[in-house]
Amino acid sequence: MNRTTDPRPRQPPALQWSNWYLTASKLAVGLLLGLLIALLWLLRQNEIEEQRATLIADVLWLEQSLRFRLEGNTEQLQQLALDLSQDSAGPALFQTRSRHLIKTTSELGQIVRLDARGEAVDGLPTRVLAHPSLDIFGGGQANTAMDLANKLGKTVYSQVYPEQNQPQFEIYVPIFENTQLRGTLIGVYSLNALLKELVPWWFAEKYQLRVLDGNGKTLASNSRVDASPSSLSYEVAFDPPGDGLMLQVTAYRAAGNVAQTLIASLIVLLAGAVFWSLWAVRGLIRQRVAAEQALRVEHAFRKAMEDSLTVGMRARDRNGEITYVNPAFCRMVGFSAEELIGQRSPNCYWAPEEMEKTQRLHNAVMEGNAPPEGFELRFKRKNEERFDALIYEAPLIDADGKHTGWMGSVLDVTERKRAEELARQQQEKLQLTSRLVTMGEMASTLAHELNQPLAAIASYNTGCLNKLESGSFTHEELINALTKLGVQAQRAGRIIRRVHDFVRKSEPKRTLCDLAEIIDDSFGFIEPEARKRNIRIVREIQGMRPELMVDQVMLEQVLLNLMRNAIEAMSAMDRLPPERRRLTIKLAQLDDQMEIRVIDHGPGMPREVQEKLFTPFFSTKPDGMGMGLNICRSIIEFHHGRLWVEDTPEGGITFVITIPVRQP
Ligand code: ADP
Repeated sequence: MNRTTDPRPRQPPALQWSNWYLTASKLAVGLLLGLLIALLWLLRQNEIEEQRATLIADVLWLEQSLRFRLEGNTEQLQQLALDLSQDSAGPALFQTRSRHLIKTTSELGQIVRLDARGEAVDGLPTRVLAHPSLDIFGGGQANTAMDLANKLGKTVYSQVYPEQNQPQFEIYVPIFENTQLRGTLIGVYSLNALLKELVPWWFAEKYQLRVLDGNGKTLASNSRVDASPSSLSYEVAFDPPGDGLMLQVTAYRAAGNVAQTLIASLIVLLAGAVFWSLWAVRGLIRQRVAAEQALRVEHAFRKAMEDSLTVGMRARDRNGEITYVNPAFCRMVGFSAEELIGQRSPNCYWAPEEMEKTQRLHNAVMEGNAPPEGFELRFKRKNEERFDALIYEAPLIDADGKHTGWMGSVLDVTERKRAEELARQQQEKLQLTSRLVTMGEMASTLAHELNQPLAAIASYNTGCLNKLESGSFTHEELINALTKLGVQAQRAGRIIRRVHDFVRKSEPKRTLCDLAEIIDDSFGFIEPEARKRNIRIVREIQGMRPELMVDQVMLEQVLLNLMRNAIEAMSAMDRLPPERRRLTIKLAQLDDQMEIRVIDHGPGMPREVQEKLFTPFFSTKPDGMGMGLNICRSIIEFHHGRLWVEDTPEGGITFVITIPVRQP
């Protein structure tokens, strides 16, 4: 199968999900921030628009007020001009009306009456004009505003001019009698006074009002405090008096305020904080997801391990309540985890016949006195079947190091115990059988061996009798013969006792025995047979007489078995040269061990046979039982020693026995 590999490490689904979620959150926060800024901007635009509309309305209102005022004044001056054109009008009329006019209009500072030639004939408060002939078109042209007024027969305003740094302008009202020019009325306006009079307090508080000339130069202002150039401002033509004059109104307070800026900054700051916290949360989530993933892997591993366990596990809290059981334990007792968890003592799997013992051990466990080497109990399965359980208890310590209960591992040892019992019984039977077989095999040898001492006893006896009958004997001769007879009788007795000991099954009895003597005794048994088969037995014990705590009969049985096997192996070889028909028993001491080597020069055996040699019932002989070596090894191991096989260097087999000098 052709599989393409993705070089990018695959992220766990939870991490992918959280990444997606975090990206969405960040987008949402970003969007929210954008919308808030847009909203603030719209509000600000609205406010600017509103402020602008108010400003325009206020400016227009002011411009209108000024216009009305100037027009009203003009009308009054025109009325005066008209009245003065009447013949009946005397100088008192001008004085009275002008005084009244100046009094009621503070912006009108002076009224002068000129005659047709342009000479000042009357004036209030004085007839002297500060600026008698103003050229309204500039450029030094001859036409003055007054001329224009006279020619047009209409009121005309002059340009604004400074008078002692006070901007002023004049109004020219021609006086006609019918169509005949009789003179001119000049009204002098103070621009500052006009503004002071007509700009209300609330207007002055909100706006700075300036009067600009055609070049944009400020001629007059209602306040010395300049509004910021960035503030809202609006200009409108100041007509009358016209002549390119503009009214410029500038708001003192710009649209938008500190609170708004503060709120906007706070929003941006908070959004930044949210972004930052989302970033931090992302890191935390990543860590958490990684930890969860690791935990899941660990949990899966532990679950697999737990399920594959054949040992039953059972956890109990400190009150003895079952808190956990693994599948193996459930299989063992036949109850489900649901049935077991939460149970308190006595548990449903306790065998009634061992209730007392089980309760005692349970209490010991709860008190922390569980035997460290474990303990055995008989438990009951759900189907009432009994089984032997080997239990080890260990304290359960939680993550905070607190002792929370006990964890018990439970092994079903029923089968093992049954097998052990069976093996023990078999071994016992086999040992008995083997002894009987060996005894049977030895019976003929013994009969033959007993013949010797008995024949010797008989011949010593006959010799003694003959001597006594003949009467020619010495005292010593008789004692000598009778002593030898006694020795032979003792030998026969020992042989019989050994057979008796051998056949009588008794528990292994370890006594302090001389190893050399045991070897010699075994010799005594086997020698006749060896001799019969033309095999020489060599003892190499170098005068040692080591004393060990052993069971003499058992050890003799081992040596006899090994020697008989060796003799049989060698005698089975027809063409074995006489010098090799030799069985050597060698005794040596190696540190704290005694070593006995049984060396033959027989056919030896291949490696695979050597490996199976000590297994029960392994035999190459047609009538062999194959139990001899197995029993021999058991006996040596009973003495804490070892028995193994080696090749004899010049051919044949060597059995090696080691037994510790000091028996435990
Ligand atoms: P058995 O003598 O009844 O067969 P053993 O357990 O005493 O049972 O011996 C098992 C087998 O080991 C023998 O059948 C024999 O083939 C082999 N064996 C034992 N000793 C020797 C030896 N010295 N040389 C060669 N083979 C041997």
